[in-house]
Amino acid sequence: MQIERLVAKAKTFLLDLDGTVYIEGALIGDMKNTLTALRESGRRLVYLTNNSSKTKEDYIARLSALGIYEKNDAVYTSGDATIAFLKKRYAGKRVYLAGTGKVRRSFSAAGIALDEENPEVLVLTYDTEIDYEKISKTALFLKRGIPYVATHPDINCPAKEVDLPDIGSYIKLFETSTGRVPDVVVGKPHTYMGDGVKELTGQSGNELVMVGDRLYTDIAFGVNNGFSSLLVLSGETTAESYRQSAIKASAVLPSLNEIVRYL
Ligand SMILES: [Mg+2]
Repeated sequence: MQIERLVAKAKTFLLDLDGTVYIEGALIGDMKNTLTALRESGRRLVYLTNNSSKTKEDYIARLSALGIYEKNDAVYTSGDATIAFLKKRYAGKRVYLAGTGKVRRSFSAAGIALDEENPEVLVLTYDTEIDYEKISKTALFLKRGIPYVATHPDINCPAKEVDLPDIGSYIKLFETSTGRVPDVVVGKPHTYMGDGVKELTGQSGNELVMVGDRLYTDIAFGVNNGFSSLLVLSGETTAESYRQSAIKASAVLPSLNEIVRYL
């Protein structure tokens, strides 16, 4: 698809964060003005992240501090998508949630019944406060055979010196110990998070544009959900690695900043 056509149909831009909007906390190029130009062209911005170690409120605070969060913007995490999924698929069920204190409180506040002793569903998040007690409980409940939901699949999380183990590494640990893999993975590139986005925006198809730097999560998310996808070469993917990829985006730009000339 040509970039002109992608922009003409777009109503909401779904923005990945690391490698797309900022790198190591610093905005990429003239991102603040780019995002302002997108808003002024009548498009809505939804920041879409797989990171389930933080809450929507954490991200709103971080994006506000960077000066890129306005009142009509939204943040949607794989944790938010998992809450929506649990309410649909496992309404009223008791959940063991391996997650940070803040994330546990956010699930609870959203009406998910948390249970440490006799849960009916297990949910694994990117728990940056995980300890051996939580690892033991998670293994115990997995061995009982209850449904197993993971918020997202990422192996590593971008960090300063080296990328650090994300939930995908935890999934491998539990697979090695219990033989189980998640029955459902909610976040990018999967359609459960896509369903959540459609609900949030009331839009679908090419009205939604997924913008991201990672092929197997961001761009595959666009493809799997029938949304437009815009690959930006400001992060993980290089022009050369994209040439060799089987996953193809609707359009490619050096960074999101170049979109302003098409608005
Ligand atoms: Mg990224």
